[in-house]
This record gives sequence, C-alpha cells and structure tokens, in this order.
Amino acid sequence: MILIDGKKAAAELREELKHEVSSLKKKFNKVPGLTVILIGDLTPSQIYVRNKEKSANEVGLKSEVIRYPDTIEQKVVLEKIKELNKDDSVSGILVQLPLPKHIDKQKVIQTIDPSKDVDGFHPMNVGNLSSGYDSSIPCTPLGCYLLIKKTEPNLNGKKAVVVGRSNLNGKPMTQLLLKENCTVTITHSKTKDLKSECLKADIIVAAVGIPELVKGDWVKKETIVIDVGINKTEKGIVGDVDFDEVSKVAKALTPVPGGVGPMTIACLLKNTIDCFKRSQK
Ligand code: NAD
Repeated sequence: MILIDGKKAAAELREELKHEVSSLKKKFNKVPGLTVILIGDLTPSQIYVRNKEKSANEVGLKSEVIRYPDTIEQKVVLEKIKELNKDDSVSGILVQLPLPKHIDKQKVIQTIDPSKDVDGFHPMNVGNLSSGYDSSIPCTPLGCYLLIKKTEPNLNGKKAVVVGRSNLNGKPMTQLLLKENCTVTITHSKTKDLKSECLKADIIVAAVGIPELVKGDWVKKETIVIDVGINKTEKGIVGDVDFDEVSKVAKALTPVPGGVGPMTIACLLKNTIDCFKRSQK
C-alpha cells in the first residue's frame, strides 16, 4: 500500500511556491499579498489563521491578519472587504469561517472581489470551475486533487466516488475529477447502499465528518482513497476512513493527520500566488 504523504507533498509545494514568489518579486518588484479577516476568538480558527500566516511568511508572501471581536457589525466587515478589494497590495482575501450568527456568510463571500477570492467560494468562481474555466479552487479539494494526480497522473476514464456533497469539499472535488475525465458519482447522507457505490470506485474521496465511515470491505484492491475527514474521538483525531482496515486493502491511502490537512494551507498559498499572476496579466 502506498501511504500518500501529505506533509511531504505540502513541503515540496511550498518550496516550489517560494521559488515562484522570488521570481515574481524580481519580475514585478512586489510580492503577492494575503489578507485574512478573523472574527471572534474560536480556538480552532485562531490556530488555522496562525498556521496560514506562518506558512505565508515562509514562502515570502506579504501577509496580514485583521482581527475583529465577535460583536463586530456586519457593515464594518463588508466595508473593510470593499477597501481590500481596491488595495493593489492585496492579492487574496480570506474571511475565516465559521462566522458569528449575526453575520451573513453568503453576503461576506459575495462581497469579496472574485479575482481575490482565494477560498474559491464566490459564486463566480464556483461557476467558472463547473464550466471548466480558470478560477480559484477551494483549497482542500485542490489539495486532494494534487495528491491524487501525484499518485496516478492519468485519471482518464477512472471511476471516482465522492462521499459528501458540501460546497467546501464534495462538490468542487467532483468538478476537478470530471475535468480529469473521471466518471464521477457524488454520494451523500441520502445515498442508498454507499458500500456498493464505493466498491465500484477506482478513487474514493471521503469528506463526510463521520469517524471511520469507510470500511475495509467497501474498497477494491486497486483503489486510491483520499480521507478529508478530521474527527475528534476518544482515541484522538481520526478521518472518515477506517485507516487500519482500508490500509490493508487499498492501493493508496492518505493518513489522518498528515494527509490532506497539510495540503490545504499550501493550496491557499498557491491560490494567492495564482490570483496575483492573473492580476498582472
Ligand atoms: P459538511 O458537514 O458540510 O458535509 C458533509 C457531507 O457528508 C454532506 O454532504 C452530507 O450529505 C454527507 N454525509 C453525511 N452523512 C453521510 C453518510 N452517512 N453517508 C454519506 N454521506 C454523508 O462537511 P465538510 O465541511 O465537507 O467536512 C467534511 C469533513 O472534512 C469534516 O470531518 C471536516 O472536519 C473535514 N475537513 C477537513 C479539511 C482538511 O483540511 N483536511 C478541510 C475541511 C473539512
């Protein structure tokens, strides 16, 4: 079984991006900039944002975090986003989710200029991705895609099963696999007999949020399995795939932690650089 090492792949991607930033700096005399807006003091969000900032600095991006208390008025946040939209030194804007209840997530996402939407959540980017046009792609599915391509460069005609249909993971993942000429089945909580769907797959991407849902007898010998899940359990953090069982059967599998997770932040940096490059054209 191939253990797909997301930590190593993310480090290699960051190294590539570091070189790219340094050549962009030489060419344009400026570096791409990432601005993160963090509202409130939820611990996981604080940790994510700290890691994002650290990684951005590591590859040489200009990075800034704007912090607001969770009582901040929505209009202040929207005004700040509009200001950042006009700021040439800002290539990418990310508003860390989840947001406090009084702030309308959709409104926030739609206020970000699509050309600076490094999360790829703006409807314009969602539409561009599904039409096969150049766009920002949500970071986690983009990371999954890069890991799959590293393991199996030619995905033509492969049968892929995506478990979970969230806007964040399942739906964009489906679009990326379709673009690679996979035959894709997207499954969800109402899918009947998920096991038999998974048994048809050459590639399984599980993004559900149920600990160890995908079992060893759901997977064929030649299947590549990508585990997006991050679930806190009594035995620690586990994915949506039963690692012990599936690692005995699958061709390749991502561990949790150390699989998809590290790629997510690296892909955020990639998206920031890609937004910068598009803006210079
Ligand atoms: P979500 O709750 O938005 O969506 C879950 C999806 O799973 C839904 O579409 C639902 O229909 C489907 N589902 C629920 N029960 C099911 C079942 N029994 N069978 C089949 N499908 C079922 O979740 P999300 O935001 O996509 O996140 C999924 C998981 O990925 C979570 O564990 C989350 O923590 C993790 N995650 C990881 C990263 C990362 O960087 N590795 C990033 C984001 C999310």
